[in-house]
Amino acid sequence: MRRIGLTGGIGSGKSTVASLLQERGAIVIDADSIARELVEPGEPALEALVTEFGPRILTDSGTLSRGELAKLAFSDPEATKRLNAIMHPLIRAESARRLEVAAAAVVVYDMPLLVETKQQDLVDTVVVVDIPESLQVERSVTMRGLDREDVERRMQMQASREERLALADYVIDNSGSLGELKAAVDGLWSDLHAR
Ligand code: ADP
Repeated sequence: MRRIGLTGGIGSGKSTVASLLQERGAIVIDADSIARELVEPGEPALEALVTEFGPRILTDSGTLSRGELAKLAFSDPEATKRLNAIMHPLIRAESARRLEVAAAAVVVYDMPLLVETKQQDLVDTVVVVDIPESLQVERSVTMRGLDREDVERRMQMQASREERLALADYVIDNSGSLGELKAAVDGLWSDLHAR
C-alpha cells in the first residue's frame, strides 16, 4: 500500500486531482469530510466545541451552525488556535485509522492543510497541486463562484506556494488545461506503480 498526501492551496485543482486518482482506482480519504463527520450531533468533537465556544454554535435542532462557529473561531487568531486544538488532533487520529485499514494499492489522503498541520509523516509521498496565486484566485472566483476577498483571506491563512513546494515529493503543475492535468495525473499514476 502507498499512502499519498495530496495537498494544494484553495482553487489549485486538488479536488479535481483527487477525483482523477479515484477514477484510476485509488481510495481517497478526505480530511474535510472527516471534519464534517466529526462534528455531527453526538460526536465528542461537537461537545468539545460547545464547551469551548458556547451553545450559540448550535442550531435549534442541535446540529452545528458552521456560520456561527466561523464567526467566533475566525474572529481572532487565538480563537482559531482553540478551534484547531480541538479539531486537528481528532482529524489526524481518524485519518490515521482510515489510512491504516485501507487495503487498496494506492490510498490518497486529500488534505488542504497537510503542510500547515504537519501531517506529512502520515504518508509516504506528498503530492502538491501547484498553480500561480493569481490563477488560484481566478479559478476559485470564475469556476467555483467564490467571493474574491474571501478567497484572498483564506489564501493568506494557508501555507505559501513555496512552503508547500518545499515539502513536495511530486509536483503536479495545474496551470494548463484540464486535458494537460489528466495527462499529468496519468504520469503520476504510472510513476507510483513503477516505484
Ligand atoms: P481545490 O480543491 O484545490 O480548491 P478544485 O479541484 O475544486 O480546487 O478546482 C478549482 C476549480 O478549477 C474547479 O471548478 C475545477 O473544476 C477548476 N479546474 C481545475 N483544474 C482546471 C484546469 N486545468 N483548467 C480549468 N479549470 C480547472
